[in-house]
Amino acid sequence: MPLKQPLAGKVGLVVGVANTHSIATGCARAFRAAGADLALTYLNDRARPYVEPVAHAVEAALLMPLDVEHEGQLEAVMHRIAAGWGRLDFLLHAIAFCPSDDLHGRVVDCSKAGFTRAMDISVHSLIRMTRLAEPLMRDGGSILTVSYYGAEKVVPHYNVMGPVKAALEATVRSLAAELGPGGIRVNALSPGPIATRAASGIACFEDMLASAMEKAPEHRLVTIDEVGAVAAMLVGDAARGVTGNVTFVDGGLSVVA
Ligand code: NAD
Repeated sequence: MPLKQPLAGKVGLVVGVANTHSIATGCARAFRAAGADLALTYLNDRARPYVEPVAHAVEAALLMPLDVEHEGQLEAVMHRIAAGWGRLDFLLHAIAFCPSDDLHGRVVDCSKAGFTRAMDISVHSLIRMTRLAEPLMRDGGSILTVSYYGAEKVVPHYNVMGPVKAALEATVRSLAAELGPGGIRVNALSPGPIATRAASGIACFEDMLASAMEKAPEHRLVTIDEVGAVAAMLVGDAARGVTGNVTFVDGGLSVVA
């Protein structure tokens, strides 16, 4: 007898696909392979041609624009999901941003505007998404975001994104505690460094990749498909006992001093 696909019958929203190299792309592929139906978003018209092939590959039922700084766009996405599916079983929030001057400078020099914008796009957007998803997760659900080791330790060149990811992880714990009674789980993944568009904005990112390769127990980098495999497990019923957690998918990098 063929094995039942673990996410068969589930519907999920994936936010954060920029192109075929995005962590969200690896996750979307894994969700679809596990049987889920998906809605995807793209940042703007410039990004759309790079997101469309991913949407096509995962047979996305819905593809909509979403810039979380754009008033009303997130509400429109949730509205379409409510109208089409009437519910949402899981959502992936895989977005982050920091203006480059602030990202490249010392934390002590970070501007108020840059800090506020980085926190809004990278953290408060998860709060807004969760708030709008909650009524669509009447029978429970799973919310997943993407953090990084820089939340815990000072990683050279990660600069203000360290405090931003620390806030993201604390937010995950609060949301998990608040939404637990409604059967909604909230978790974060913490992948090792992967060459993506967002990562290319971090100074000396090539050095981070080289150091990860040298330090990691298997002396290799993790792939977006390996991150996707863990994401698919976490949003599914197999992980029903897991919430408020940060799961490393870094090939063991974070256990090596
Ligand atoms: P990516 O560039 O492929 O994805 C980043 C996404 O953020 C893009 O899709 C972009 O459109 C989206 N985004 C930025 N501003 C937005 C806005 N205003 N509204 C909506 N979307 C917006 O890069 P990625 O590495 O796949 O990043 C995904 C997540 O993974 C981020 O949270 C990042 O911090 C995290 N992460 C990345 C690595 C890595 O090494 N690549 C490691 C750990 C964690």
